[in-house]
Amino acid sequence: MTDFFNDKGTAQRIVRKIRDISGSEKIRIMHVCGTHEQTITKNGLRSLLPENIEVIPGPGCPVCITPATEINKAIYLSRNGSIIATYGDMLKVPGSTSSLAEEIAKGADIRVVYSPIEGVDIAKRNPEKNVVFLGIGFETTAPMTGQVVAGLPPENFSVLCSHRLVPPAIDFLLKGGYDIDGFIDPGHVSIIIGISPYLDMCQKYHVPQVISGFEPLDILMSIFMILRQIKNNTAAVENEYTRAVKPAGNAIARKLMNEVFEPCSKEWRGLGVIPDASLKIRSEYAQYDAEKRFNIEMLESDVCDADCPLCASILKGLSNPVDCELFAKVCNPGNPVGACMVSSEGTCNIAYRYGTILF
Ligand code: SF4
Repeated sequence: MTDFFNDKGTAQRIVRKIRDISGSEKIRIMHVCGTHEQTITKNGLRSLLPENIEVIPGPGCPVCITPATEINKAIYLSRNGSIIATYGDMLKVPGSTSSLAEEIAKGADIRVVYSPIEGVDIAKRNPEKNVVFLGIGFETTAPMTGQVVAGLPPENFSVLCSHRLVPPAIDFLLKGGYDIDGFIDPGHVSIIIGISPYLDMCQKYHVPQVISGFEPLDILMSIFMILRQIKNNTAAVENEYTRAVKPAGNAIARKLMNEVFEPCSKEWRGLGVIPDASLKIRSEYAQYDAEKRFNIEMLESDVCDADCPLCASILKGLSNPVDCELFAKVCNPGNPVGACMVSSEGTCNIAYRYGTILF
């Protein structure tokens, strides 16, 4: 199956179709998915496109958009005796004055896990300690955290909830006047939420959207489908990733997510507060909400983002990593100055590893 989606002859045919309908006016297509960016950059897909077609990475990496304040909270809890459990990508994300990796170097008990279930195991093995799971990610990982909380884990387990929602962020970007002519919607998020959350905004802003898979041909086909809509002056949500995304999504995963979480308005790194684009734990499960359970004290210095000159602009699709004077000099995956360089899904990290100028 994967070989088919990498087939050179099919790619050439789709590229020819793209060239046939691309016209000459500048067209900006944004995606909000680190895995899409990886496929695009690793396979040099931008080089196959006509010059007037720009494919721009938006805020699609959950690690990148987690603001410094939420790292600071985890650090505060760690310094006050909790064991922190989180995904490995979070360790190097800059807080205001430190990172989880720096705290580990100073002796903090911060553990890398692959799922919140491992956090529960740590809590069971350490009944005398509080264990806080720093939960990040979009609709793809939130159901897993919801399942753990709904399963009523041990009392010494709680969640510092940093989950985010994709459709309100797309709405925010479309409303914000970032000059976007089409959206490639994330396939994995859409497996959970289905098609309907995109419909209203598609009509409201008259901007075509295509849900895309992650192979090179998926991306090329999605670009073609967007261009076809632009040419026909239509704006619909199309599903290129039909082999995985069902129109109604995954009802069981959504039920778990909705049972435990509700939308709230919190900061995204580089973008500010996006209305209803974050999740918080419902009051019925307040005993598992680390923010409610612990009195987390924030200093004034805790609320500013770390010293990255261009992350905000990169997350909005307004700058290219090579525009940053720190890129590949001071800032690299071994020494990330900004969040976009930390994760393998971060735009700067991908540009560094594949050496490609983005757009
Ligand atoms: S290269 Fe580093 S400092 Fe510059 S924008 Fe990217 S992450 Fe931020």
